[in-house]
Amino acid sequence: MGQRREFSYFGQQWVAINPANARFLDSQGRRVALSSTIFHELAEAYSKVDLGKPYIGFELGTVRNGMIVTTPSGFQRGAHNDAVQRELNLRNQRPNLQLSGRAGDVLIRDPK
Ligand SMILES: [Zn+2]
Repeated sequence: MGQRREFSYFGQQWVAINPANARFLDSQGRRVALSSTIFHELAEAYSKVDLGKPYIGFELGTVRNGMIVTTPSGFQRGAHNDAVQRELNLRNQRPNLQLSGRAGDVLIRDPK
């Protein structure tokens, strides 16, 4: 989102963050630390590149008699929500992070 951009180049995936423009507030108005933004984007890239997941959640399906069959357990978390879960785990392990914003939340640009 915003100035956070990812680039694919010759089969490599890159994460580029401009620290001068990576100032965000989460949905509770808490400032998101640059380290949290970096953690989120790297975790998301890991899920995409190493686990081969798309950005959003998806369903596994099989085709039977011309119909796609899915099951509730076939729902797979996408790369973004993998990164959200990793950030929640980190925040649980480090209570001091609870005071800062969640990079995986719905963000708005910090006007300051
Ligand atoms: Zn994300």
